[in-house]
Amino acid sequence: MAAYDPENIFAKILRGEIPSTRVYEDDETLAFMDIMPRADGHLLVIPKTPCRNILDATPEQLAAVMATVQKMAKAVVKAFDADGLTIQQFNEAAGGQEVFHLHFHVLPRHDGVAVRAPGTMGDFDLIAEHGERVKAALS
Ligand code: AMP
Repeated sequence: MAAYDPENIFAKILRGEIPSTRVYEDDETLAFMDIMPRADGHLLVIPKTPCRNILDATPEQLAAVMATVQKMAKAVVKAFDADGLTIQQFNEAAGGQEVFHLHFHVLPRHDGVAVRAPGTMGDFDLIAEHGERVKAALS
């Protein structure tokens, strides 16, 4: 497996070098809105410390990230009055991973509504509004 690249886009988001719509953070993790949402409210949860994916993450990184994934799962269900949610996590290019900093996708889901195709840039104002709904659901 390749070494962790500190110039990956999520590392830049963590360092504040590029913008993101942050909705939650604690000492070990960050949650922010996905820029190409496959469902309204689609967000990502990452550790603040470096690892590519599940293959090199430490148990401590995974425990911290999963605790935040659960927190965000409850928040998106509340914020979007969802019937359920999908959690996705990809490992290495062969596994569908495109950004090589561990991340979990959290997607609120509604009965009978399919996820949108990947790769379409979202509307920034709408993403910001959805982020505000998530933050409100956390408080
Ligand atoms: P994957 O590595 O396959 O899980 O895909 C990376 C995910 O990161 C995709 O859902 C992208 O839409 C998302 N993404 C890429 N760049 C950004 C960014 N700057 N801000 C938020 N999400 C991003």
